[in-house]
Amino acid sequence: MATLNHKKKQMKPELEASLKEEEIRQILHAADSLIGSGGRSMLAKILKGSRDKKLLELELNTNVAYGYYGYLTLEQITERVDWMIKNDFLELQYNRDMPLLIFTEKGWLIQCDQLTDLLLHQWSQWIEAGIGDIDMSYLKDRNRGMILLFLQKVAGTSDERFIPLLKQWQLVDYQKVKKAIMDVIAHLQNKGESRLVLEGAAPQMETTSDLFHQPREAERLKCWECGKRFEWTVEEQDLFRMGGWDPPKRCSSCRDERRRQREGFTWNDFD
Ligand SMILES: [Zn+2]
Repeated sequence: MATLNHKKKQMKPELEASLKEEEIRQILHAADSLIGSGGRSMLAKILKGSRDKKLLELELNTNVAYGYYGYLTLEQITERVDWMIKNDFLELQYNRDMPLLIFTEKGWLIQCDQLTDLLLHQWSQWIEAGIGDIDMSYLKDRNRGMILLFLQKVAGTSDERFIPLLKQWQLVDYQKVKKAIMDVIAHLQNKGESRLVLEGAAPQMETTSDLFHQPREAERLKCWECGKRFEWTVEEQDLFRMGGWDPPKRCSSCRDERRRQREGFTWNDFD
């Protein structure tokens, strides 16, 4: 009997526990290089540290999370990627027949926060090391909300030593970003006491820690047809998320009704 139980256990998917906060952060970092252009298997390869030809061509080996899961198999990593999708950090979106990864709202909040922290950390290292001559074009064409949040965080340091870097950046970016950079420079020069808020910046959160441990539960959705609330179970959510579908719009009885009607029409067509 014990052997049987043992066997049963082995057949279950290996990943049953939640991912740790650090793992979620690293997977989001890895996903950032692929958003809207790659899918689950390329994400798993980045995390594996694969030498895949396409991966190297796209320079995905420069991602900070490259090789983070080097000790796991691609299959084990893919399970973790799927956990991220089921738990609403990443989402699949079909482009023609290609399932591409995008951030969910929650995933993007965390990514914006940690990416801007990472950028700020890099800037701090540069000013500590006295490096002022940096080509800032790496910040161009990035998500505007994220860039503005980063600028807000630079302003929040009240550290004037960032001004030379800001001035370099100003040389290469677009008008709207230039304007925000000037605001931050003025804020640092005037030793602004209040927090600078830039319009259009991604939301700045005091802490994102609550976002990591949200228990999964059935959701109550409202039926578009009859207005009644219905339950969307965790198992159904998994199916929908892995299929890249939007949440169901109708309750099961309205869905059945529509099916019956459609069948009805079909019969009428034959009359
Ligand atoms: Zn209904």
